[in-house]
Amino acid sequence: MTERIEGPPGQSISHPSLWGIDQFEANWSLFMETLRKEEASLLIPWERIRWQIEHCEVYQEVHSNWETLDPGKRLDSWKRLLVAAEEACRTVLPVCVRCGQCCRMGSPTLHEEDLPLVKEGKIAWEHLIALRKGEPARSPFDEKPFILCEERIKLAEKEGTRECVFLSSEGDRCAIYSDRPLQCRAQGCWDPLPARDTAELPFLLRSHIFEAIEVLLEVIAEHESRCGFQALSQAFEELGRSKGENIEQVLKLLSYEDHFRRFVSEKFGISPQYLDLLLGRSFSRMAALFGFRVLEEPDGSRRLFPEGPGA
Ligand code: SF4
Repeated sequence: MTERIEGPPGQSISHPSLWGIDQFEANWSLFMETLRKEEASLLIPWERIRWQIEHCEVYQEVHSNWETLDPGKRLDSWKRLLVAAEEACRTVLPVCVRCGQCCRMGSPTLHEEDLPLVKEGKIAWEHLIALRKGEPARSPFDEKPFILCEERIKLAEKEGTRECVFLSSEGDRCAIYSDRPLQCRAQGCWDPLPARDTAELPFLLRSHIFEAIEVLLEVIAEHESRCGFQALSQAFEELGRSKGENIEQVLKLLSYEDHFRRFVSEKFGISPQYLDLLLGRSFSRMAALFGFRVLEEPDGSRRLFPEGPGA
């Protein structure tokens, strides 16, 4: 008969002396889940706490030696590990441990102070995106939605996620850590105040980045006047009011904005990968904000499909 010990409430687990590494990890996950429910901080992301627990000396030692550990000593090691985990959980270090959790919750907005990073090429144009005046955004501090009253420049995020483009594919390393923007340097998951203070500092604008390229400033101004976000917003509002009758007006606007982008790219030899910075996201992509998906047919015409809201 299998020997049993006390496990998380409502669960029965076999004796640690019988566990292989897979069972060790399965039981560890159960224990982490229990700890998360009991100890989770409202402020600090649980993934950050778990990172710290799993990087403590005791975990590293017990986990890496589990398979070779004398079965008679596994129970003691397991108990030692649980005590160390609870202690680590209650003493979260007030330092950035580079767990990558903040970087998965949204990319930073850039400030004027970050301009040298862009000018010196430490952050390339293709990794930047302009959010234009009038676009909806979410506060990085409390996730509350708001409307931008002036533009913002952000680092791009990986397609379909909120993960910063500079977070390594292994998920816990910033590719530009020593040259990361002000907001990242100020951010501490153990203390939100310094990052909140940066929100009072002047934000980076496209006019700072392109200040020496007069013609691009003119292109930005022309695009704003002909294809401002307000125009897109009004077209979709009207679409809703007219119960779909003015769909042609929306499609015309999407097509015009797309034409504008292509024209700028070809006339000025600007790589399409820089257009999200120069002109913001395309209207076709932003249709998702209004609950629509745009499909381009082979003949270049567009069709609009209702979809769940989201950017
Ligand atoms: S720049 Fe680096 S530190 Fe900042 S969010 Fe991106 S990956 Fe994280």
